Amino acid sequence: MFLQSKLPNVGTTIFTEMSVLAQQYNAINLGQGFPDFGMNPQLTSLVTKAMEQGNNQYVHMNGLPALRERIAEKVKKLYNNEVSANDEITVTPGGTYAIYTAFTSILNKGDEVIIFEPAYDSYIPNIEINGAIAVPVALQYPDYSINWELVKQKISSKTKAIIINSPHNPTGALLNEADMQQLSALTEGSGIFIISDEVYEHLVFDDKKHISVLQFPELYKRSFVCFSFGKTYHCTGWKMGYCIAAPGLMQEFRKVHQFNCFTCNSPLQFALAAFLEQEKEYLALGKFIGNKRDYFLEAMNATPFKPLPSYGSYFQLYSYDGISDEKEKDFATRLIKEYGVATIPVSAFYQSKQENKVLRFCFAKKETTLAEAAKRLVHVQ
Ligand code: GLN
Repeated sequence: MFLQSKLPNVGTTIFTEMSVLAQQYNAINLGQGFPDFGMNPQLTSLVTKAMEQGNNQYVHMNGLPALRERIAEKVKKLYNNEVSANDEITVTPGGTYAIYTAFTSILNKGDEVIIFEPAYDSYIPNIEINGAIAVPVALQYPDYSINWELVKQKISSKTKAIIINSPHNPTGALLNEADMQQLSALTEGSGIFIISDEVYEHLVFDDKKHISVLQFPELYKRSFVCFSFGKTYHCTGWKMGYCIAAPGLMQEFRKVHQFNCFTCNSPLQFALAAFLEQEKEYLALGKFIGNKRDYFLEAMNATPFKPLPSYGSYFQLYSYDGISDEKEKDFATRLIKEYGVATIPVSAFYQSKQENKVLRFCFAKKETTLAEAAKRLVHVQ
């Protein structure tokens, strides 16, 4: 049987590739972004309770109403935006699905989407499977900030959307208010949509603050804003998230959603609705993850790796300039095989596979894991 691939240039995601190698060589996995510590047992008990109480059938396709209400309250409190639980919020099986669905709702063949590289690796396939074209703009190394002049140059009559991501995966960079104003000025009245990947909204440290598209009414009108419960509550395997968009946009989003996943896991939604009432659970997260980042930085001081700035997410980039001249993927593979530590080569997040001698380390791990990984890297050469 001959199958004409819709994604001829796509292989296996770098996360799976590196995780499989890590397992094979029994390496410490600081590659794929997931915590190795337990989630809050209160939340797992709430799931058990929901199941035992018989909440095991489909809930509304847009998400359990109580959960959407709690999300709306949280958005009002944090971002001062009164979104409608009925018309503007849809619960999704994860943030990646929300992003894919947003792209699928708006893209037609030949449309262009501006992406910032390094870019999370699902964006380009999401764009291409819809017959659209990804137009990359490189973030400026080493602080990975946006050069808005370059963005302006890449906007054409075919530009349908711009995808932004803050806190940024893989770099940990944050967008600031000036960035949002630039984005607003560039897109106002243009018909260009924004997809805003904000899955790490609470994972911000060093006294910085997450800036959401939801805080800018002009921008929000043309945005799909995507979030993840997995990242907030340390349960990435739950694959639960949500998308927020203005009613007209959300209506189209739901057309795609209803014939794809239709509705998400019910007991998890009951549990999340109850747990979201405790705002301290998500408000304390920045400090918690910031402490882990500090611990990791300290431990890595004994190694020859050089840290790059990171202000949010699960990730810390390190340069290996001066240690090796190998390409990032080759070096990352050797680190797994010879030193027993898995990372992600940042070149995997560039269409052009740009090489800066930089690797991504996930520090959302127990201190013992971080200490052991750093110890293994002390004599890297
Ligand atoms: N978001 C996770 C990361 O960046 C990976 C998710 C996945 O493996 N698809 O590591």
